[in-house]
Amino acid sequence: CLSLLQKHTKLIYIPKRYMLKESINHILNKKVMDRYIRLPVPCNKVLATYCWIDGSGINMRCKDRILNCTPHSADAAPGWAFDGSSTGQATTANSDTSLKPCAVYKDPFRLEPHVLVLAEVYMGDGSPAATNHRKFCNDLCEFHRAEEPWFGLEQEYTMLDVDGWGLGWPKGGGFPAVNYEFSYCGIGAKYIAGRDICEAHTKCCLYAGCDFEGTNAEVMFACWEWQIGTTIGIKAPDDMWMSRYIMSRVSEDYGVVVTYHPKPMGPKHPGVGMHHNFSTKRMRSDGGYKFIEECIKRLEKNHMKHMKNYGNDEQTNRMRLSGKFETAPFDKFSWGIANRKSSIRLQRNIKEKGKGFMEDRRPAGDCDPYLVCGLLMDTCLGPAGG
Ligand code: ADP
Ligand code: MN
Ligand code: MN
Ligand code: MN
Ligand code: MN
Repeated sequence: CLSLLQKHTKLIYIPKRYMLKESINHILNKKVMDRYIRLPVPCNKVLATYCWIDGSGINMRCKDRILNCTPHSADAAPGWAFDGSSTGQATTANSDTSLKPCAVYKDPFRLEPHVLVLAEVYMGDGSPAATNHRKFCNDLCEFHRAEEPWFGLEQEYTMLDVDGWGLGWPKGGGFPAVNYEFSYCGIGAKYIAGRDICEAHTKCCLYAGCDFEGTNAEVMFACWEWQIGTTIGIKAPDDMWMSRYIMSRVSEDYGVVVTYHPKPMGPKHPGVGMHHNFSTKRMRSDGGYKFIEECIKRLEKNHMKHMKNYGNDEQTNRMRLSGKFETAPFDKFSWGIANRKSSIRLQRNIKEKGKGFMEDRRPAGDCDPYLVCGLLMDTCLGPAGG
């Protein structure tokens, strides 16, 4: 199940493959659109957007259908199907691929009563699609329910123009003449670009019902971060994927491309990650520090296995984990208190408190949080089924 991810390394979202010179979406008159979006529909008609992860393992797809009432839970949303041969998920001869709803959110684009339905992809024979790691993660969440696994996920991302170059970066291949010292949590046109998108995305995610926690500008110009958490179990990666979907829709409205590529601007510029903060009831209880140390030892033993699954593509995460820009080298596991150059970081006061949580700094920006959260539980708590 874990090695399947490696088959999907085509990286179709790599910046330089974009050939558009200009986006049309944000030029379309949104004021006119506002007239139509506010048109009431009959009260027995609800628009549902089904969203899923495609064969790339990082891009998402969606399609709409009209339901006759609002599904308030995943069980209440009907299953559906799509042509998997057009999403890199099935062959043309056997293309019926099914969508199994797993979480329902309010639609921040059409507003109530309309919904966004996050769905898992299954093949014709009933097995999960190659890029569907939700079952792996959810089985572990269910099995370790009594341990109450909590996650806090920090998604970093880079805003690009549709031509593939950084948003607001000088055209023609130049670099912004800013000192990155001022961009992290920065303010001012000289230091940051694209705040509107970050702001709009925040509101949309909160409206939708994600456990959205915060945002900040990152070290690299036009790079930002949002956090999901602290959330129990499967809701953390579910909300992360839904907030990624919402980000694609918001940035589409602005004619901007968002990429999670771990090293989008090459070796001279910072990388893009998704730190995973993780704790269990035992880690959060008195004496939990000892258990955290045990877990770190288990993580160390599985380091290279995890590195194969901590990004959409092992090689690009290797570029990010260079040992520079607050990262630990790809091949070498390390841990430390308050150390941002280690694989696992613990908070400064954890020893005095004797309990807390750990931060896994290794996952790439384009990782699948279902896989990473699943592997953290699998390694620290044991496999589902004992
Ligand atoms: P930094 O950028 O310094 O790493 P952030 O504020 O971006 O800090 O992220 C800290 C993360 O830690 C948040 O996502 C939060 O949800 C998470 N977190 C805090 N306490 C816990 C805990 N007990 N278990 C799991 N995650 C936690
Ligand atoms: Mn059709
Ligand atoms: Mn952070
Ligand atoms: Mn960060
Ligand atoms: Mn962090």
